[in-house]
Amino acid sequence: MVTTRPASVTDELLERLVARVPGRTGATWKLTEVYTGEVLVELPQSTPQDIEQAFAEARAAQALWAQWPVAKRLEVFERAHTLLIDNAHTTADLIQVESGKNRRMAIEETCDPPMVMSYYLKRAKKLLAPAKHGGPIPFLSSSTEVRVPKGVVGIIAPWNFPFATGLSDAIPALIAGNAVVVKPDNKTALSPLFGISLLEEAGLPKGLFQVVCGEGPDVGPTLIDNADYVMFTGSTATGRVIGERAGRNLIGCCLELGGKNPMIVLDDVDAEEWVEGAMFGVFGNTGQICMHIERIYLPESRYDELRSAFVERAERLTIGAAYDFGPELGSLVSVEHRDRVASHVEDAVAKGATVLTGGRARPDIGPAFFEPTVLEGVTKDMLAGATETFGPVVGLYPYRTVDEAVALANDTDYGLNASVWSADVARAEAVAERIESGNVNINDSLATAYASKASPSGGVKQSGVGARHGDQGLLKYTDAKNVAVLKKQVMGARPGQDYDAYVKQMLSSLKLMRRLRVR
Ligand code: NAD
Repeated sequence: MVTTRPASVTDELLERLVARVPGRTGATWKLTEVYTGEVLVELPQSTPQDIEQAFAEARAAQALWAQWPVAKRLEVFERAHTLLIDNAHTTADLIQVESGKNRRMAIEETCDPPMVMSYYLKRAKKLLAPAKHGGPIPFLSSSTEVRVPKGVVGIIAPWNFPFATGLSDAIPALIAGNAVVVKPDNKTALSPLFGISLLEEAGLPKGLFQVVCGEGPDVGPTLIDNADYVMFTGSTATGRVIGERAGRNLIGCCLELGGKNPMIVLDDVDAEEWVEGAMFGVFGNTGQICMHIERIYLPESRYDELRSAFVERAERLTIGAAYDFGPELGSLVSVEHRDRVASHVEDAVAKGATVLTGGRARPDIGPAFFEPTVLEGVTKDMLAGATETFGPVVGLYPYRTVDEAVALANDTDYGLNASVWSADVARAEAVAERIESGNVNINDSLATAYASKASPSGGVKQSGVGARHGDQGLLKYTDAKNVAVLKKQVMGARPGQDYDAYVKQMLSSLKLMRRLRVR
């Protein structure tokens, strides 16, 4: 049974949000409510000329914005922090209608941009202040590292966390003095559009944050060709296309891609605590989290006990199409994605895997619902064994030794996130050290690493290039300009000085400076 659309999502709000998307040909895309499949609004589709114009407007606004003192820019984000939190429920309504996720997850998503803001509100002044260093000649020379904004940053965002990926990566770019042109996924353009309207209400200059919409292959090339830096979040396959084009244009890019994230459970784990944490790690956001767990390695000595506890809890998960905090699980984003998830389960079963629970679509709840699914006997020749499923599907695997578990966890092309559970944190940390992954959560699945905004978070291997969060999450949107000063021209041999004597003096002064720790 489907509840009615949230009261805050009025036709007036929807029309106001999409009105800022350029689309000169009048072509539109039907943006639908996931729980019902009903059309909510016609989303304009931007042409290459629209995108070029968006960049031109962004560039003009950026030239002025970059002249604002950092403290004045930060005042905008101080106000925005409050506004975003005060509007969390309307934001969650929009996230839910466009993505179909459950409300618990939607409200958590609204917290991400304020958390990112909070970190950079503390750090940005220090990061963006010119840093003075000594030059090659002590006392007579110096070098100053000046942080210059890249210009206009192009952001391409996916549908799974549309508000977070649409806004959170833009915040450090804007604080650093850049303009932003974002391309959200067509399915989920509403919540980022709403967030941007709140940033403008907080005082962000008009024109600085542009939105263009369209299918990726239509919009992507013009967006990348006009950008000074590209921030991409999405699949590994698309990440390659983006990275190739950015490389050809000799611009920097950050690629946050997919995963096939493992969890290793050590034999001393507290079963009850683990089961609860693992439920969110596997089924949170209906399995549509890049860092969610798709492979769980259980010690053979406790396999039956842990498997039963996990399956039993998965069977009790509540699924529903509701705009309240009731359901633990919501919908998948679309019928196409539901079919993709189902194809991974069908392929696994056809090749010999066993379904311990779930495995079926649930059209009785809504068009794109799929049951929480636990598999056993998954092998690497199955789709679900090697490639990202990105749905509420997990494989359980027994292991005999910790060495074997680590080898299995690392037996993947991906390296985005991993999780290790143990009653002994030091033991878990020793395992974490051996896992090839950009993030490892100990006694949690994913949220602790992602919500630690002071540490860079990114993927290794085929899961990405670069990182978001931490100091580098802002510095990547800047170029370092090295302004060097020599007070008196003393470089090279003095007039008439024998060159051999000059070289001897230069080499011995290098040793002396090292000894005195001057350079
Ligand atoms: P996707 O790669 O299909 O699409 C992501 C975005 O790229 C969308 O806006 C899409 O329109 C656009 N796009 C598609 N083709 C393009 C092209 N040729 N040129 C330019 N843009 C193009 O990914 P998706 O299915 O929307 O999202 C799910 C994927 O995102 C999963 O693989 C998931 O793991 C990954 N993801 C990663 C992170 C992370 O931080 N590492 C976070 C969220 C999602």
